[in-house]
Amino acid sequence: MLTPILIDDDGFANKAKIILSPNFDSRPNKFNVNLIVIHNISLPPGIYGSNNIIDLFTNKLNPDDHEYLRSIASLKVSSHFLIRRDGSLFQFVSCLDRAWHAGESSWNQINNCNDFSIGIELEGSDYDEFEAEQYACLNELIQPLIKAYPIKDIVGHSDIAPSRKTDPGPYFEWGKIKTHFNHLPIKN
Ligand SMILES: [Zn+2]
Repeated sequence: MLTPILIDDDGFANKAKIILSPNFDSRPNKFNVNLIVIHNISLPPGIYGSNNIIDLFTNKLNPDDHEYLRSIASLKVSSHFLIRRDGSLFQFVSCLDRAWHAGESSWNQINNCNDFSIGIELEGSDYDEFEAEQYACLNELIQPLIKAYPIKDIVGHSDIAPSRKTDPGPYFEWGKIKTHFNHLPIKN
């Protein structure tokens, strides 16, 4: 039987590989963490398995590697978590701090979702199914997050920034998320 993931008092998951990102700051209220935002990311889009996502979140992306990477290499972004195609879990920012994953966004009439959300990136795209290992890791991670923080909703990036973002995309199967919530918002 798997040992469950625990979130420690410093906001880190004990089973994640920790690679700290410099791209974060303090939450306006570190006790107000009530939203989980699911994303997909692949760099370049649709290409899996490189370290480009980790390099992006740690400002180490080599702009000479690929034309697409050049266009994003100067971005200062991060996420709390990344789940790669093999289900491995990485953490870049403490859940108590504000990662820079959502950008301009709004949920329940409150703007700037980075202030009060935890960002989880799945290595993937809008055009591919996600791996069973990724859903398993995501479910394993969501449970302790719900225990540690007053999470009220789990949404996609496209739910909080509908005019700008499409991720996690049509292949993300919301029905595979297991929570004790009675509902997940705005899912088809
Ligand atoms: Zn996103």
